[in-house]
Amino acid sequence: MELPEIVAWLKETDAARLTELWRQADDVRQKNVGGEVHLRGLIEFSNCCVRLCAYCGLRAPNDGITRYRMSADEILACARQAVDFGYGTVVLQSGEDPGTERSWMAGIVRRIKAETPLAVTLSLGERCVEDLAAWREAGADRYLLRFETSNRELYDHVHPPRPGRSSDRLGLLRWLRGIGYEIGSGVMIGIPGQSYDDLARDIALFGRLDLDMIGCGPYLVHPDTPLGDPSFQPLRPEGEQVSANELTTYKVIALARLTCPKANIPSTTALATINRHNGRELGLVRGANVIMPNLTPPKYRVLYEIYPNKACIQETADGCFHCLRGRIESLGRQVGSGRGDSKRILDFGF
Ligand code: SAM
Ligand code: SF4
Repeated sequence: MELPEIVAWLKETDAARLTELWRQADDVRQKNVGGEVHLRGLIEFSNCCVRLCAYCGLRAPNDGITRYRMSADEILACARQAVDFGYGTVVLQSGEDPGTERSWMAGIVRRIKAETPLAVTLSLGERCVEDLAAWREAGADRYLLRFETSNRELYDHVHPPRPGRSSDRLGLLRWLRGIGYEIGSGVMIGIPGQSYDDLARDIALFGRLDLDMIGCGPYLVHPDTPLGDPSFQPLRPEGEQVSANELTTYKVIALARLTCPKANIPSTTALATINRHNGRELGLVRGANVIMPNLTPPKYRVLYEIYPNKACIQETADGCFHCLRGRIESLGRQVGSGRGDSKRILDFGF
């Protein structure tokens, strides 16, 4: 799809045309990745972070939250729970936290791989290549790192680099692919200052990166962050500024599916946060094929506050599992079996 066509879809308001977009995305999803919905158990194992991302409540200077790091045994207990629920993957996610040491993390990955059949996805931010290689060596299968926006100026403003280093998430993603990780990326939808052209370029970039996984959700304001102050990054004029709304999120999911037919695409928690009633289900019938039920113990889950009022914050792992299973079955879809690997890996072996 050419950029003008993507922009036109992002601005489309005609209900009949949008129904056609949802139908196309759902057909392409069915033909390429089938009717299974893969469940990835999310373990938010640390909310410590050294970064200054202007959008995120975990940013280092936010002293309004209590910081935690789960122990290795606590993480392993969550992984065992994932096996009991029949999940094929655990996603270990955290702030960018140098306190998560290379050998400690490698030990956890090794234990999960030795004691369970789970695929392991890591999402720990921009770590050095030595760390990332050691974790791959230990058995980690996948790495998630959103590039957030392809507008470089906006990216640098809302995601300042660490002193003396540049932030090259695209370079890191390519490097991760090269050492055998399945790679996942994505963007926030409706960041102040993000134009429709920017978002269309983001979607085209998903295709060029040939992503295995694409995670996109609406940007949600956290009041205790720089972006919580409207003067930090003004909105673009009406008609140019992307809305951080539900409809735009469905459009991005559908267009990501058309651009990357074989990718694994989650219906995200941020989407469920803006439509608790059936946001996840609508994502699943407009191109998505993955859900990430939360396995983080509730006492930590409430502290992983990247934005306020996150969906499912008070649920137990057991509650999430049963609720999501029911929602998937209500659509006539099946909970996926096995690891739910990328079709690229299954078809081509690399
Ligand atoms: N620290 C790692 C990183 O940044 O890649 C992983 C954890 S971070 C919390 C995961 C994702 O949360 C980010 O890539 C970003 O897209 C999303 N996020 C952070 N703040 C958000 C907000 N206010 N609204 C929506 N998504 C947000
Ligand atoms: Fe830290 Fe990730 Fe939040 Fe940025 S988005 S502040 S790196 S947790």
